[in-house]
Amino acid sequence: MYLISACLAGVNCKYNGGNNESELIKEIMREKECVLVCPEELGMLPTPRPPAEIIKGKVIDKTGKDVTDNFVNGAEKALEIAEKKSAKLGQKIELAILKANSPSCGCGKVYDGTFSGVLIDGDGIFAALLKRKGIPIITEKEFSNDNRRIIHDKF
Ligand code: SF4
Repeated sequence: MYLISACLAGVNCKYNGGNNESELIKEIMREKECVLVCPEELGMLPTPRPPAEIIKGKVIDKTGKDVTDNFVNGAEKALEIAEKKSAKLGQKIELAILKANSPSCGCGKVYDGTFSGVLIDGDGIFAALLKRKGIPIITEKEFSNDNRRIIHDKF
């Protein structure tokens, strides 16, 4: 079973009310059991909402509000949902396909907290939690047609 950032499947849960729909991800969803989660909505944040970035371990939105608790709670809820589905299906969570650069779902690179589009090394709050649980992660940027077969064979 794969865990997927809901916005990649076309769910309008992105901070601006839109999504990051990917045809490739939707194709994968037809072939594989998947669970879709949006940790920010699960953290009781509204959609649309101000964009947020990680600054010194805290998540701060563009208005200056500290939304760290929403992000942490939402990440925990998202994992719980995935684990419940995994137990129900009797399938482990083989792979998480997450939205690149997000303060929740970003893996390896996130924005630097200045809201200026600069990326630095780091993980979003949800991605960091999944890493601690040992769940392999790739972002939609790495999940291309070129490496799809390899990923399918591996997971
Ligand atoms: S929290 Fe993740 S799933 Fe939700 S909109 Fe942001 S990137 Fe997409």
